[in-house]
Amino acid sequence: MIELGYDYPLYRPPSEANSIIFQVTLGCSFNKCSFCNMYRTKEYSERPWEEIKSEIDVVSKSFPQTERIFLADGDAINLDSEKLIQILDYIKENFPNLKRISCYAMPKNLLQKSPDELKLLNSKGLDMLYIGIETGNDLLLKKITKGATSKSIIDACNRAKKSGFIISCMIILGIGGKKYSKDHITETARVVSDVSPNFLAALTLIIEDGVYDEFMKKFNEPFETLDDTIILDELELLLININPISPIVFRANHASNVYSIGGNLPEDKEKMLALVRSLKEHPELLKPKVLRRF
Ligand code: SF4
Repeated sequence: MIELGYDYPLYRPPSEANSIIFQVTLGCSFNKCSFCNMYRTKEYSERPWEEIKSEIDVVSKSFPQTERIFLADGDAINLDSEKLIQILDYIKENFPNLKRISCYAMPKNLLQKSPDELKLLNSKGLDMLYIGIETGNDLLLKKITKGATSKSIIDACNRAKKSGFIISCMIILGIGGKKYSKDHITETARVVSDVSPNFLAALTLIIEDGVYDEFMKKFNEPFETLDDTIILDELELLLININPISPIVFRANHASNVYSIGGNLPEDKEKMLALVRSLKEHPELLKPKVLRRF
């Protein structure tokens, strides 16, 4: 990752590890999800065009061969479409070998733009969106202050897909605690199946110190964290219940996960289920807790 004058903390999805990152916005325009500690120290703002332009100028001279660019921070797509198009056009002009531009997006960002606007952004080179679903259960979506319902998530993801975007979605194992574990997974599998994102990442909840009290307060009833066996039960139930309408590349290989699992759905479902079931018999194979982080 090239070092620009970044405003830290800086995040990008694991699959953007080799991408050039331009921070076109700072922080997250929502910044209220109770489990998320990413941008709590930042106030949302949009960087001036002149600063973005001069960074593109510098980086394109040093790395003209760049193939992938990620636009940070938490929801660059929140930018006014006109400004985003100005950035996309300038990036395309200056990186002739570019294959992909991506950014994070939340359902509300996508529903605030019309299908035509989204199609235009996609035609201008914004190819891929990383979207946090977290859970498909409406009660839990409220408890974690996601600012979305299962319906708005499905509508937003389908709108993005129909507009030509590749979408990569995230869900969080354990986010319902023990009490809502089954509801969380069955509803999440329903939403995931409806949306059938191109990529799906299942992370595992680790509540960081910075948001622990807020998470518990907003949950508004006792929250029992899941042990590894129940996390594996959730993963098993999730895989059983996802019935995609188009293929999904599935991964549970995030730093927070108990074990690295991956495959394509539906064809690798049985293989992944066999692995999850064997891990339940062999907990000694799971990643040590000290090595896990959210
Ligand atoms: S999870 Fe995403 S939308 Fe929610 S506060 Fe964090 S960055 Fe913002």
